[in-house]
Amino acid sequence: GVRVRFPPSPTGDPHVGLIRSALFNYAFAKHYGGKLVLRIEDTDAARNTEESYQAILQTLRWMGLEWDEGPEVGGEHGPYRQSERGEIYQDMAARLRESGFAYPCYCTAEELEAARELARQEKRNPGYEGTCRNLTPEQIAAYEAEGRTHVLRFRLPDRQIAWNDLVRGEIAFEAENVPDYPLLRADGSPLYALTNPVDDALMGITHVLRGEDLLPSTPRQIPLHEALVELGVSKQVPEFGHLPFVMGEGNKKLSKRDPQASFSYYPRTGYLPEGVLNYLALLGWSLGNDEEIFGKQELVAGFDGTRINSSPARFDLKKCEAINAVHLRRLETEDLAKRILPFLDREGLLLGGEDGHLADEGEWRTLLAATPLVQERMTVLSEAVPMLGFLFTGDGTDRRHAFQVNEADAEKVLTADAWPALAAATAALSALGTEESPWTVQAIDDALRAALIEGLGLKPKNAFTPVRVAVTGRRVSPPLFESLELLGRDRALARLNAATT
Ligand code: GLU
Repeated sequence: GVRVRFPPSPTGDPHVGLIRSALFNYAFAKHYGGKLVLRIEDTDAARNTEESYQAILQTLRWMGLEWDEGPEVGGEHGPYRQSERGEIYQDMAARLRESGFAYPCYCTAEELEAARELARQEKRNPGYEGTCRNLTPEQIAAYEAEGRTHVLRFRLPDRQIAWNDLVRGEIAFEAENVPDYPLLRADGSPLYALTNPVDDALMGITHVLRGEDLLPSTPRQIPLHEALVELGVSKQVPEFGHLPFVMGEGNKKLSKRDPQASFSYYPRTGYLPEGVLNYLALLGWSLGNDEEIFGKQELVAGFDGTRINSSPARFDLKKCEAINAVHLRRLETEDLAKRILPFLDREGLLLGGEDGHLADEGEWRTLLAATPLVQERMTVLSEAVPMLGFLFTGDGTDRRHAFQVNEADAEKVLTADAWPALAAATAALSALGTEESPWTVQAIDDALRAALIEGLGLKPKNAFTPVRVAVTGRRVSPPLFESLELLGRDRALARLNAATT
């Protein structure tokens, strides 16, 4: 069956391009009823961090990309962190050397540099020229006696290396462009060039789907895979596919410095996993019809690996937002309210309930009632906070944060000109909240229109904007009458009074 892998190096904040690779591998595996292996390539102790490792696991789970084998899940081919596989690499390196697929190279850094320089001057290819390819046991003994150290180099076959790339079709490299390369450093530690193919072989990987930046390592890895098949380590050389680059502004590769290049930007800003998954899938792939909105099931059903685009994908945050907004609008009220909750909590707006609930019962009821009012007005979850904050801030000591009118809006709208409207609104609303005139959206609507539009002859905008700013704190808010109803009579009147004093 199909076995694919996602082998991140845990350095820094995961990049969107990295998570796109994970997504494509996941979709490919699931489409074919295969397995996704998560392998952590953490041999570079100086650059790896535990935070980055945790962030990768958390991100995959947030996206709903469950792995079938790997850290915290286990599997037959573990351990799944390369830092725990040191003996395996030493053993493989020894077997490759014994069988002649690899050889010790005693060239010093200075000698290699001098050879490269000469090649450049003579306009030849400046790759390693095979100086130590055929050392005799006597020469090796002499180097050892000199006290030289050696790297272990893989011996490339002297022929063209070609493969049928799943994304890019036929690719061929001439032998002279693929020099013998090191598998072990002089201190004996293994390099990516060894650990990555060895693990792919041992883990039975059938397809390698990875970023285009790794295309130059494929002609080196294919012969190593062939050697591992010959040694009986694996059954087949995997197939390779190279995913297009993700480009940012101005057609430059999306740089680590772009805030939206770091994956953590998305959960933090309140993107939905559904929206991000949908958008990342479009970076180099499409359903094949014009439909751009789809979910995980549709992606998996359609992802047979044939419609991956080979030209660079352009990252467009506006489009990502728009797609997110579509998914946001599709959520059930209760589901959306649950997702907004942590964002209100993050701003310290909730008192919290029992048993660790983020909201107490009253807060939860308010949020459930308010959610439909903002659902169509937001693209990401964090936007709910400024729009709904007025419901969770207090006018006395009842809430953690006091209600405050946004300063710029207050200066612009709550001027002396607005006082007559505010006073009339206060009087009209004070009359509500009785048996005959209950505090309902319809009654509020009727009372304010009668007082401000008919009574004072104001245009709706001039009538309602001061009321909106006074009670919600902002010029952009959920619909006014619904907002007033949810806020309740006492708090609404207190805020109107405060606005005119
Ligand atoms: N650890 C490598 C990286 O993150 C994996 C590359 C690969 O997919 O082969 O770049």
